[in-house]
Amino acid sequence: MTGPGATTRRAARAPLARTLALARPVSQRLILATLLGAGAVGAGIGLIATSAWLISRASQRPEESALALAIVAVQFFALSRGLLRYGERLAGHDAAFRLLAELRVQVYRSLERLAPAGLPAFSRGDLLARLVDDVDAMQDLLLRVAPPFAIAAVVGFCTVTLVWLALPSAGLILLAALILAAVPLPWLTGCLARWREARQAAARGALGERVLDLMQGAPELTVNGALEAQLAHAAEADAQLTRVSLAGARTAGVGQGLTTLLCGLAMWGALLVGVSAVRSGQLAGVLLATVALVPLAAFELVSGLPAATQTLARVRESAARVFEVLDAQPRVPMPAQPVALPAPPHHISVRGVRARHSAHAPWAVDGVDLELAPGRRVAIVGPSGAGKSTLASVLLGFLAYEQGSVTLNGVEISRLAGDEYRRIVGTVAQDAHIFDSTLRENLLLARRGATAQELDGALDRVSLLDWSHGLADGLDTEVGELGARISGGQRQRLAIARALLADFPVLVLDEPGEHLDTATADAIVEDLLEATEGVATLLITHHLSGLDAVDEVIVLERGAVVERGTHRQLLRRRGRYADLYAREQATRYVDVRSE
Ligand code: ADP
Repeated sequence: MTGPGATTRRAARAPLARTLALARPVSQRLILATLLGAGAVGAGIGLIATSAWLISRASQRPEESALALAIVAVQFFALSRGLLRYGERLAGHDAAFRLLAELRVQVYRSLERLAPAGLPAFSRGDLLARLVDDVDAMQDLLLRVAPPFAIAAVVGFCTVTLVWLALPSAGLILLAALILAAVPLPWLTGCLARWREARQAAARGALGERVLDLMQGAPELTVNGALEAQLAHAAEADAQLTRVSLAGARTAGVGQGLTTLLCGLAMWGALLVGVSAVRSGQLAGVLLATVALVPLAAFELVSGLPAATQTLARVRESAARVFEVLDAQPRVPMPAQPVALPAPPHHISVRGVRARHSAHAPWAVDGVDLELAPGRRVAIVGPSGAGKSTLASVLLGFLAYEQGSVTLNGVEISRLAGDEYRRIVGTVAQDAHIFDSTLRENLLLARRGATAQELDGALDRVSLLDWSHGLADGLDTEVGELGARISGGQRQRLAIARALLADFPVLVLDEPGEHLDTATADAIVEDLLEATEGVATLLITHHLSGLDAVDEVIVLERGAVVERGTHRQLLRRRGRYADLYAREQATRYVDVRSE
């Protein structure tokens, strides 16, 4: 177990360093953003310094020309501050979004490689949603953590030097106050944040579990009269989470209060030493206001650092979880010396395959034969638990088979590198994940660098092109969390378009109409079979509509093939398939009658 263990330890050790390494391609944008940010804060400090000088000097009623330069400087700092801040946001977000896009692709690829057999935990939607949140949280390292620290270091040094040149003692006071606010204070809040983050996550998890129990078990709990007690448990978990969150808010508040206190002390300290320096003739009186007020502006540099360290704690946790997925090893072991991928055209042959989910379980797939020649479409039908999804997992190389053979152009697939093999065989899962991003980004996951025509082509094949053209933002439309802003059918079509775009020679489609109403499911299967013409396709379904378009229908029961043939042949045979078909037609008739 050296592999996964070692990689998990590596992920735990350096998740932040690895996130930064991933951001290397956008480092120029990041440096630009940081420089612009430093310019913005520097302009803020310059504004205070020059205004203080201007007001002091103006009170001496000098010639107007003596103030001209300072007036221009005040205007310059005031204007440039806003512009620089805007530029910083633009460059910083651009860099962060590029990193996010790259990370999403990597996570998607890993999940595709691992799921469904490798990471059973991720079959639960909430965990997958958390992973997506984790990926999104990692951009904060580039937006809210690294830049504030870099800017504080650079601009802080320059400001202290300038104040020190005017009055060394005031410079030293400012330096001490800034260091206190920049190092021990954020460190302390960071430690507290980490500790609290763990408690909050546990409290959130406990509440989530209670609420889930309540929702899923409501009928039984009501019948057994246990609903009240369960509700009280959920309320207690909620109160616990509130307590932990309040304690967190208090720590953040105390952190901010201490920063403000240090800022005040620095200002009063500079004023006191400034006044005595003016008295002793060491400092020109006109500079006194500048020396006393610059600390106020300079504290803008450090006021965000406690929040940045708290964000850092969150990013570290998120990054560790994401890298754990990226590093996880698939359950089907990689061959020590993988054989090179055979050249196209690709032909998959399944012979007498037997597979199960654990050592002593009954066979979930029990001696299946199957041919997927180029362009051939096969449908696997059968009742729930018949072994359809297990067969799909075997074909995708997610689950090892114990007997029989699965070959690609004559080469046993267990001898091929899993990742390479899965460039030949692609899949669309029942609940394919849609990322909280735009239509375009969701499509580009499958093929970065696809042209606009290729994207439109894929959408056209799944009948989404007219719809996407009708959207105000077109392909830049946000689809919402888990694709919540588009319909279930559109989500599924989008997932299929993504698979088509990836251009797999062989496609395994696992219940594409699942979770959808019958009419939508029928329409999707029909469009799908049209769209995949020419692509070797294994369609797993328990909806028996549209199957006259496939070359072979295989009826599976308890893992074994009970019937096979074309849709027409099977109907004529009046066996199991004809029976299932007649039953489904009857329920449709009832559905139509009741509408
Ligand atoms: P279908 O897709 O036809 O509904 P499955 O392939 O999901 O059927 O299931 C076939 C058999 O394998 C069932 O008896 C099911 O309980 C079992 N099975 C499926 N997935 C797992 C799993 N991850 N772990 C253990 N047993 C499983």
